[in-house]
Amino acid sequence: MSDQLLKGKQCIVTGGSKGIGLAVVKAFLAEGASVEYFSRSKSEEHGSLETLAAEHGATVAWVACDVADEKAVDAAVEATAARGPIDVVVNNAGVTRDGLVFRMQLDDWKAVIDTNLTSAFLVCRAAARHMIKRRSGSIVNVSSVVGIIGNGGQTNYAASKAGLIGFTKSLAREVATRGVRVNAVAPGFVDTAMTDKLPEEAKEKLKAQIPLGRTARPEEIASVVVFLASDMASYITGEVVKIDGGMGM
Ligand code: NAP
Repeated sequence: MSDQLLKGKQCIVTGGSKGIGLAVVKAFLAEGASVEYFSRSKSEEHGSLETLAAEHGATVAWVACDVADEKAVDAAVEATAARGPIDVVVNNAGVTRDGLVFRMQLDDWKAVIDTNLTSAFLVCRAAARHMIKRRSGSIVNVSSVVGIIGNGGQTNYAASKAGLIGFTKSLAREVATRGVRVNAVAPGFVDTAMTDKLPEEAKEKLKAQIPLGRTARPEEIASVVVFLASDMASYITGEVVKIDGGMGM
């Protein structure tokens, strides 16, 4: 038996071009999975992803796709399914457009809900059909601890991430008898481009709320996603795993 947790699996990772998604793509490749990552831009590290894939007997492909666009998602998922069975889907693409609710424009609300939440509905609707037919599959949605405890200045983002949790649990109930598992992770404060743009003062305030006393590396989120995607988690569905250094306990 292979010691690679995802040997021979075909996986879709949305938002795999950088940050947490890129770490998930790398971790999946290292576990022997072939990955198609959906994002608007190709990863600056695509060359090294190809090397990593070759080293582990896998393949990696970038699929240009705006995950908030229904037609683009349907076409991208169908193209992946035509190349081989879809075993794993990770809905990770996400954006922030922060601001106090009184000043927030409707566009800022809609952009965040569409990219972070509607995207997961679109990708799952297209991919779960195939998983159900094969009576096998694992879906992991990347929520946030903010979707559980809230955060002033992020009503749109927190609503999208709380929505993802409700979506995860409801879909898990819909597809459980068909052999498909659906889980979520809820990261706390992770070092990526998304958090890099926060003002220094806000970062220090956030760090002060983390019992482990430090921010997370993207790889620390990816390792839990690998676990949930793999057969190691074969009896886990509808679960939300916080990966937040204790921030939301
Ligand atoms: P990031 O470094 O900014 O990466 C975001 C990724 O999402 C990129 O690959 C980006 O690719 C993709 N993306 C954004 N809009 C997209 C769209 N419309 N269509 C397709 N892809 C899109 O952010 P991150 O920190 O890694 O965040 C990844 C996920 O983790 C997000 O869902 C975020 O909410 C969540 N999260 C992050 C933290 C944190 O502290 N960083 C904490 C909790 C949860 P392109 O720009 O190439 O399209």
